[in-house]
Amino acid sequence: MPTEYVIQQTLLALTLSIPIGYVAYKRRGLSLGGVVTAIAIAITVFLTGWQTFLIFLLFFLSSTLLTKWRYKVKEEKQAAETGQGRGWRQVIGAGGIASVFALALAANLVNRCYNPEPSPLLKAFFTAMLAAIATSNADTWAVEVGAAFNREPRLITKPWVRVPVGTSGGVTIIGELASMAGSLLISLAALTLYWISSAYQLYPWSIFAVSPLRLALIVFIFGWLGEILDSVVGATLQVKYFCPRCKKLTDKKIHKCGLKTKYYGGFKIVSNEVTNLIATFISSTIAFVCSFYIL
Ligand SMILES: [Zn+2]
Repeated sequence: MPTEYVIQQTLLALTLSIPIGYVAYKRRGLSLGGVVTAIAIAITVFLTGWQTFLIFLLFFLSSTLLTKWRYKVKEEKQAAETGQGRGWRQVIGAGGIASVFALALAANLVNRCYNPEPSPLLKAFFTAMLAAIATSNADTWAVEVGAAFNREPRLITKPWVRVPVGTSGGVTIIGELASMAGSLLISLAALTLYWISSAYQLYPWSIFAVSPLRLALIVFIFGWLGEILDSVVGATLQVKYFCPRCKKLTDKKIHKCGLKTKYYGGFKIVSNEVTNLIATFISSTIAFVCSFYIL
């Protein structure tokens, strides 16, 4: 049974994610490396149920559409994603932590065939995985909606300092509202799918035995907190470069104008993707611990 389940879910994941990946590649939402990484993450997510895959898809589609939204405006402000689409590093930054929790949850699910008690650990991995997806969604929504409007961001750690659009750690009111909405969307989608799964006994979400409203609340709060942490880490630890020609701060060694930038501050190892990983790891781990007390 466990081997059968793993093979069946893997095949389903491949059947659904390869065509989606192909379209994303053709439309330049993802690079080739990005597609391969996203498919690997889709498999881990699918092992925890088709329901999780739908949540992940919601994150992927809404974020991709928001990236394309008002693309010209973002391009002018040099805050747009590159034309080749998101690469494998960005995909790991956005989905890496969720897929680690997904693997842990899947291992527990497979084990559960021998021990059918719904364990607190199962609930905790489930909650943390959803909180990680909510964080990634909140973060992309904040960045993409924030950049689409002509507001000058302020540094989250020093609100009196204004920074150019696209600078890590820079926040706007509209971006923060978008971040809340992004986390709320994942939380409500999880709540709906959980209700449907419980009502119709749809495996595997039907066996998690969590309190649905509390689950939704934890996912929403820690998804949102994750995005705030992302801005804080982005403002403090993340490496920053300065383009002498454009007089702008940037995350990149080579500025979009083509000029080599100068080191400005932060840790060189903490790229934007590492910032995503740190923030998602902290918020989903707190969600993991909270689930033992709240769910
Ligand atoms: Zn420049």
